[in-house]
Amino acid sequence: MQKILNDIAAAMAQETERGKVADYIPQLAHVDPNQFGISVVLPDGQVFSAGDAKTAFSIQSISKVFTLTMALGKLGDAVWNKVGREPSGDPFNSIVQLEHEMGKPRNPFINAGAIAIVDAIMMGHQPKETLAEILQFVRFIADDNSIIFDHKVAESEMEHKDRNASLAHFMKSFGRIKHPVDNVLGTYFHQCSIAMNCEQLARAGQFLVSDGVNASTNTRVVSPQRARRINSLMMMCGHYDGSGEFAFRVGLPGKSGVGGGILVIAPGKASIAVWSPGLDTIGNSQLGTQALEMLVHKTGWSIFGK
Ligand code: GLN
Repeated sequence: MQKILNDIAAAMAQETERGKVADYIPQLAHVDPNQFGISVVLPDGQVFSAGDAKTAFSIQSISKVFTLTMALGKLGDAVWNKVGREPSGDPFNSIVQLEHEMGKPRNPFINAGAIAIVDAIMMGHQPKETLAEILQFVRFIADDNSIIFDHKVAESEMEHKDRNASLAHFMKSFGRIKHPVDNVLGTYFHQCSIAMNCEQLARAGQFLVSDGVNASTNTRVVSPQRARRINSLMMMCGHYDGSGEFAFRVGLPGKSGVGGGILVIAPGKASIAVWSPGLDTIGNSQLGTQALEMLVHKTGWSIFGK
C-alpha cells in the first residue's frame, strides 16, 4: 500500500494541469495549488500516507457527511421530510430546483440541503452550542481532539454569503428554515471551515467502512443500515453534477469539498482521503479525482469491479 501511494504522489507531482483554486471564498484563494496529499486507513486501523497528508485544509462540503450523520441521530427518518435523497444534476449552489419542489432540497449534500440539515440539528439552540456539538462529533469520529474551526475561512464566507443567503431565505419562505437565517448560515460556514488533514479525515471516515463501527477505537457510530444509506447518498450525490463522472471514473462513495479534499469509502476495505486544492469546473478536486482513479485501478477497490 505504501508503494502504491508513493507512486500516486510521484505521478501527481508531475501534473501541470492542476485545476483552479476556489476563489469565491477569498480566504481559500490564498492556498498554494501545488500541494497533494493522500491517506488510506484500513479496517484494522493501519494508516498509510503520501505527500502533504499532514497539512490541514478546509474540509468545506465534506462536513455535510458529518452533519447528515448527526441529523439522522437526532431526527431519524424525519430527516427525509427536510431533504430528499435524489441526485440533483445541478451545481452545488443551485437554486432552480427549490422552486419546483416547495423549497425542499433534493439531497443533503447540495448547499441548500446542508443548510436545511444544520437548521434541523440546531433544535432551538444558539449557533455556539450547535457548533460545539458538531466539533465534538467530528473529534469523536476522528478520535482526535486537536481538530478546530478555521474562523478566518468562516468569516470570509460570511462576508460573501449572498448565494447561500439566497438559498436559505428562499427555503425560509416555504417555512423550511426555523432559525434566524444569519444564525443558520454562521453555523453552516463554521462547519465548512473545519480544518483537517488527510490522515484525520480518513480516520473520521472509518465508521462508514465497517458497517457503522470505527474499528480503530472499537466504537459504534451508527447502525449498519445507516452506514450503508450514507454511503449510497455519497455515491449518488457526493460530487453534485459531477457524481456520474466520479462513479464512472472511481466507482466508490465519495464526498468532495471546494477546499480540494475528497473523502472516499471503499466499504469493508478502506477509508481514503485525498487533497489537492485545484478544482475542476464543477468544483471537485482535479488531481484528487485523478489520484483516486489510479488508486482503484491499482487496488481493484471500485464497487463495480476491477
Ligand atoms: N462552504 C461552501 C459553500 O457553501 C461549500 C461548497 C462546497 O464545498 N462545494 O459554498
